[in-house]
Amino acid sequence: MEKIRMNTPLVEIDGDEMTRILWKMIKDELLLPFVDLKTEYYDLGLPHRDETDDRVTIDAANAIKRYGVGVKCATITPNAARVKEYDLKDMYRSPNGTLRAILDGTVFRTPILVNGIEPCVSNWKSAITIARHAYGDVYKNTEAVIPSAGTAYLVFEAEDGTVTKQEIFAFRGPGVLQGMYNTDSSIFSFARSCFAYALSVRQDLWFSAKDTISKKYDGRFKEIFEDVYENEYKEKFKEAGITYFYTLIDDAVARIMKSEGGIVWACKNYDGDVFSDMLSSAFGSLAMMTSVLVSPDGYYEYEAAHGTVQRHYYKYLAGEETSTNSVATIFAWTGALRKRGELDGIKELEGFADRLENAVKDTIESGIMTGDLIRITSLKETTKVNSLEFIQAVRRTLEASF
Ligand code: NAP
Ligand code: MG
Repeated sequence: MEKIRMNTPLVEIDGDEMTRILWKMIKDELLLPFVDLKTEYYDLGLPHRDETDDRVTIDAANAIKRYGVGVKCATITPNAARVKEYDLKDMYRSPNGTLRAILDGTVFRTPILVNGIEPCVSNWKSAITIARHAYGDVYKNTEAVIPSAGTAYLVFEAEDGTVTKQEIFAFRGPGVLQGMYNTDSSIFSFARSCFAYALSVRQDLWFSAKDTISKKYDGRFKEIFEDVYENEYKEKFKEAGITYFYTLIDDAVARIMKSEGGIVWACKNYDGDVFSDMLSSAFGSLAMMTSVLVSPDGYYEYEAAHGTVQRHYYKYLAGEETSTNSVATIFAWTGALRKRGELDGIKELEGFADRLENAVKDTIESGIMTGDLIRITSLKETTKVNSLEFIQAVRRTLEASF
């Protein structure tokens, strides 16, 4: 078989621990034999981040701006224990945080559905993608414990010196207080990423907030979504046969539970924090959840939603057998290859991504799966395989599909 050609390289961002081991297995078994893989490689493994004083993370982000599409392995976000373990010069910030700060995107998380791993909600027939606004609100709040009676004000001092002052509350005794903010520019970016993503997957977009109570704050979010829809996406949505729909957050939750799925659900920061965890556990497993960062300028960065699976890595280092699920990491690659094919007009590359995803699903549906899925599957006849055996089984299914 002739290998599938690529024109533009993918930005390949390597990572840490068990996912770094899976990364190489996936390339060797599932990509290199089939695709004339072109990548520009950035090693975000913690030792190399340390060698470059984390410059490599910034270089990787800029490469995504140059080429448009990246694929990322899970990486360690250092804490005090990691600084010691890796003898780091600094407690570097989260690579995903750095990438997001440079690309200014929204993260979309989508569960991978297979027969035999059923969602808890039986009417969910297709995946629900959650888009979480990852800027501001309560995550950047200023809080105070109020010790005694007194009056709290919301004060804004404009650059020209004009001051507006509104009373928040006249405390008669101790209490608590918090202030938070968001910016039009971030909300516009969020909205544009959501519309662009919904259009690219041809699914309806829902946005939910609580503008009946928070008339100005959440009201502004609603207005900005409406503005982007009316002025930039209405026609495109119509052509694609999809709709945009705003509803209150509590109504959205009720409707999601009754829906058949196949929706992109945009959430404010806190709502997204809460409901992404609800969706990922209701759909089955963190190891079956993909994630893509979409920038408002149309750059895409694909990855698995889980971390580096540290506990399995220590077993691997000790020479013990591991049964780590590589599905979300494989889907990060297929997502990136499909997008690259789409942007470069290479149908074979898009076709290969579909074929590889189907091979993964067929393999699991035939009963061959890693330990995490064995625990939750409804299939009766199953075979538990180790990390490499799973990838090799997918390769056999893939080869048989040509
Ligand atoms: P984790 O890597 O997501 O793993 C947590 C647990 O979930 C594992 O111990 C394992 O459970 C299960 N699990 C997750 N992915 C799995 C897979 N593919 N196959 C089988 N089981 C899987 O989270 P963590 O161990 O808390 O974090 C490890 C490192 O990852 C941290 O240094 C953190 O900074 C980093 N992290 C990176 C990202 C990212 O790059 N996007 C995201 C999150 C965390 P069992 O042990 O019970 O088998
Ligand atoms: Mg959370």
